[in-house]
Amino acid sequence: MKTLYVKFVVLTIGMMFISFIFSFILSNAYYQQKLKPYNDSKNTKVALDIASFVEQHPQISLADYLKSISEVGYQICLVDEHGKRSFFGKSFRDKSLPLSIQEDVLGGRVFHGMLLFPQETFVTGFFADELKNTIGVPLKADGRSFALFIRPDIKFLFNEMHILFGWIFVIAITLTIIMVLIYTKYLVKPISTLTKATKSLANGDFNVEMEITRHDELGELSHSFLWMAKKLSQMDEMRKEFISNISHDIQSPLSNIKGYTSLLESEAISQEERIQYVSTINGEIRRLSTLTKQLLLLASLDRNEDMMKKKRYNAGQQLKELVRNYQWIVGEKEIMLSYSLPDIEIIGDPSLLNTVWDNLLSNAIKYNKPNGSIEISMEERADIVLVTFADTGIGMKNSEVDRIFERFYRADMARTRTVDGTGLGLSIAKTIVDLHGGHINVKSIENEGTAFIVELPKK
Ligand code: ADP
Repeated sequence: MKTLYVKFVVLTIGMMFISFIFSFILSNAYYQQKLKPYNDSKNTKVALDIASFVEQHPQISLADYLKSISEVGYQICLVDEHGKRSFFGKSFRDKSLPLSIQEDVLGGRVFHGMLLFPQETFVTGFFADELKNTIGVPLKADGRSFALFIRPDIKFLFNEMHILFGWIFVIAITLTIIMVLIYTKYLVKPISTLTKATKSLANGDFNVEMEITRHDELGELSHSFLWMAKKLSQMDEMRKEFISNISHDIQSPLSNIKGYTSLLESEAISQEERIQYVSTINGEIRRLSTLTKQLLLLASLDRNEDMMKKKRYNAGQQLKELVRNYQWIVGEKEIMLSYSLPDIEIIGDPSLLNTVWDNLLSNAIKYNKPNGSIEISMEERADIVLVTFADTGIGMKNSEVDRIFERFYRADMARTRTVDGTGLGLSIAKTIVDLHGGHINVKSIENEGTAFIVELPKK
């Protein structure tokens, strides 16, 4: 299997080899262009010095002198005028040398074998242990002519360095490969863990646990994954709760309707009872109708359909109209309603925002106390418009405030059970305000009152 681990290891080692070959070619080119001429002239000078020393000191033995030179690290070939060769020092691996070159040097010409040595891509001429890779100079001794060919004994001069560099190279490569093998395992491990976690998540197990010790991109990815798993788990919980709430909220009015219709079938009930039962049935039908309308609205808001029809309109006017519609019920409940609603234009969907205002005002009435009051105000700030619904009603505990925007949540049933509601109004209101790019804030004190502050951006 071509795992990420194998790929990474192969790629790293491959890259090492490619860089090695590339750097070899580059340094070889550098040798051919720059070092070769330098090496040639340096060795030409050495060969000429040897030749002139021999000529200036006729008393010394040529053979002894060349032998001692070879002992300090040179390979030497001496050719006499008859073409007889004598070698000093380490012998050449390849002793072939065209006769014409020998004759040229005997005739007094200098042979630049090092400079002329053919260039090959993967072999550095510097190391070629061949007679052709030498410097040849003419030499006169005892009145005879010789041709002297020399080249440094690379093995002799560089032996220890060779071994040292060789070891450094081998150790470095081996260590790098071992480290790549270990580090890649460490690098790839979180990916394998993540893959396992993804599979268990796909199978519906949201309790993913992962130990995250890293602080790099993979650590960040693991954190995001855990966060995503937590969110998915919450959404799954919410979905289950939502379905069970809907089922319950539909089931209970249906069984009430069923109960009352069977009672209506009985002939032994009075006219008064009949009227009361029919009114209860109507109430339950209204409740079911509100619930389905709210569910439909929530579903389309959730689908984020392009259902918003935004336009610039006078929200102050809209709120005043709403207040007028509620006037009779406010009067009936003996609630004092005051408002400060100047003509302020906003950009938004008038019908959706009306749902928000309707919900906030109806809640302020529903959860108010007899002789309580409601204050609605609207004010314009730099780039927002604030709409406040403040009531002196039953208020809420902090723990309840934290949950009121959850779907189907209804605070303390003991206090609100007499009030009709579905627990969907505020979650719809919040979704609409969010879609408008605004916020809803709540301030509430139990038994004292509640204020909902809607903040809408002007643009
Ligand atoms: P409901 O249909 O129950 O009114 P909402 O989503 O509109 O549903 O409100 C959720 C809950 O928040 C209500 O059941 C109530 O407990 C609480 N609540 C909302 N508005 C007020 C308010 N003005 N005063 C006190 N409690 C409120």
